[in-house]
Amino acid sequence: MSSSQPLLFVNASQVVTCEGPARARRGAEMSDAGIRTNVGVAVVGDRIAAVAPVMELRDVYRTAKEIDCRNGVLLPGFVDSHTHGVFGRPRFEEQEMRAAGLDYMEIARRGGGIHSSVRDLRSKSEDVLFELAYERLLRLATFGTTTVELKSGYGLSVEDELKTLRVIRRLSDVLPLRIVPTFLGAHEIPLESRTSTESRKAYVDLVIHEMIPAVAAERLARFADVFCETGVYTVDESRAVLTAARNAGMLLKLHADELTSSGGAELAASIGATSADHLAAVSDDGIKALGSGSTVATLLPGTMLFLGKTKHAPARRLIEAGVPVALATDFNPGTSPTTNVSLVLTLGVSQLHLSVAEALIAATVNGAAALGIANEVGQIAAGFSADMSLFDIRDVRELPYWYGDNRCVVSYTRGKACHPSDLGLT
Ligand SMILES: [Zn+2]
Repeated sequence: MSSSQPLLFVNASQVVTCEGPARARRGAEMSDAGIRTNVGVAVVGDRIAAVAPVMELRDVYRTAKEIDCRNGVLLPGFVDSHTHGVFGRPRFEEQEMRAAGLDYMEIARRGGGIHSSVRDLRSKSEDVLFELAYERLLRLATFGTTTVELKSGYGLSVEDELKTLRVIRRLSDVLPLRIVPTFLGAHEIPLESRTSTESRKAYVDLVIHEMIPAVAAERLARFADVFCETGVYTVDESRAVLTAARNAGMLLKLHADELTSSGGAELAASIGATSADHLAAVSDDGIKALGSGSTVATLLPGTMLFLGKTKHAPARRLIEAGVPVALATDFNPGTSPTTNVSLVLTLGVSQLHLSVAEALIAATVNGAAALGIANEVGQIAAGFSADMSLFDIRDVRELPYWYGDNRCVVSYTRGKACHPSDLGLT
């Protein structure tokens, strides 16, 4: 890599560096996005070499190829740390049912809900799922995301969970995006295992004794995750699955307190999960537990918006309690069919009452921390991977302002162009 020609990014109106400690930021640390003007960025091989006035960089990197940022704003590539991006058919028909007042149970009775995604994914081949996810991730990349987490969890059988994780591995092999795989065999209890207490226990045992060893043997997942929620997985079941996953060498995540406060945040903190996600219904004790630990709170306001809910995660209280907050899309076919991180920044500001700087840190450095890679991505600073996105705006505050819009024009992962338009893919 080091033999390639250095790159100099020049003429940016702002470079949002997010420079600082290579770990999750908390409290007042989230208020500084490290916005710099009159500087350029030098990239050598796959690394950022320097951020400095362009004249100085030109002196040092005399053979560099210059990339004209055309007065746009350069940011660290977004880190979308929570998605369910591998699925079959979209579930658009459920939106009108919800609007008409049908609840989750009624939609499920009419053949919708997560179990319909499970039925559908099981019926599709690895190749078909790969093609569908490939197209969707190209779209995701156009919004300036350079790192994305992808979960399994619509398979809910040994074979179909492995099939999903192999799709994720293939995507990771062919796409320039940085992809972090998560095993979510405990996303739901599959319909065939909901008939009795014994069959339910048998499924949890299957996750622990068959799925986790199989996933670990093929090194298919960096993280394991569980949907801990009233009516889904209990705290005890979640703890058992996460403990087995940790013993198999995986890092931990938890879907916690999305709809009801069931002790998910407390479990995530006590078990040392890298992140606790959702948290719209987190309790005071849960906030306190997260505040005294190292778990990142990953908030997903797009889900609440799409479901028509007015209750959002208490982002301000979490930040005040010293909890590092990340923002992600929760991209999935049922409750958050968006790949637009800029839109999530808008919701971070308008619904969660974050400042723009806090929202930016949440979608870069803290997203990276939620994936255990804050020492590698999330900052435009010397030594970090050259993962950057350029936006056609003059001031970074325009990013959450032009809501729903896509101003990303170019992005780079590991020093290589990765925006689909650069790759001739759009
Ligand atoms: Zn999720």
